[in-house]
Amino acid sequence: SVTVVGSANLDTTLRVVRIPGPGETVMASSIARSPGGKGANQAVGAARSGGADVRFVAALGRDADGDALLASLTGAGVGTDAVRRLADAPSGSALITVGDDGENSIVVVAGANAALTDLDENELAAVAAADVVLACLEIPMVTVVRAAREAARFVLNAAPSTPLPEDLWPHVDVLVVNEHEARDLTGAADLADAVDRLAGRVRALVVTLGARGAVVVSDGVRTSVPSTPVTAVDTTGAGDCFCGVLAARLAAGDDLVTATRWGSAAGALAVQRPGAADATPTHAEVAAALTS
Ligand code: ADP
Repeated sequence: SVTVVGSANLDTTLRVVRIPGPGETVMASSIARSPGGKGANQAVGAARSGGADVRFVAALGRDADGDALLASLTGAGVGTDAVRRLADAPSGSALITVGDDGENSIVVVAGANAALTDLDENELAAVAAADVVLACLEIPMVTVVRAAREAARFVLNAAPSTPLPEDLWPHVDVLVVNEHEARDLTGAADLADAVDRLAGRVRALVVTLGARGAVVVSDGVRTSVPSTPVTAVDTTGAGDCFCGVLAARLAAGDDLVTATRWGSAAGALAVQRPGAADATPTHAEVAAALTS
């Protein structure tokens, strides 16, 4: 089983021709609200695309956005007994602009996610019971470190970009980052350089490269996993879906390269659909993409 410790946000997505720069005003062609947040997208990805038995540890507001997020999670088959509802904080939200090329620009308001500063007994039990625990950095770092300490196997998606405390590194079994995060974490200008430095700090590493797929470093062996060429309409949540599926496949006993192939196939399907959690493909779709 997989336990995801992370964030949930209600996304408001604006479609624009081009993402505006500082001081610029552009007109949107549409506005849509849909479930998101890295943690929730990962939990939905692990359950729906990865076929895993998934529990989610998170904090939502006691508001309509929280109700919508909870419905999305349960609809995808995610166990929500360790999801807190807070009366004194709004659910997290994200304002997202998506350009014609599918690229995005995102501002997150943490809301209830920022209140997940500790783990209660039930939440810790959900972490300790899982074969694989997956966490992201849209929640307080202290909780990420706590989950890492309790986990049998800990997968860290170090996103969004934040420096990692020294006491977290030794607990990371698999580090998953995109190209930007790899550079930010190491200060290396060159991607190959960033990969080498990160590979020296964790047991295993996966760097996702968007349309170029991903690179895996495990047991000192570097493997390139290509992605399927597709037309991206909205890349929001593709990396999250990738992480969720990767965690699910690791929990099922796959090796890291095989799990990365599954994650990559799921990510390539997710970018072809609008939304984050709503763009998550089914397990059958991912399996079919892998054999075609
Ligand atoms: P993030 O969304 O965190 O920046 P990436 O952009 O690297 O992460 O995407 C994660 C994964 O999703 C990639 O490894 C790849 O498998 C898939 N993916 C993302 N963008 C594309 C694309 N344009 N075409 C095909 N696959 C994609």
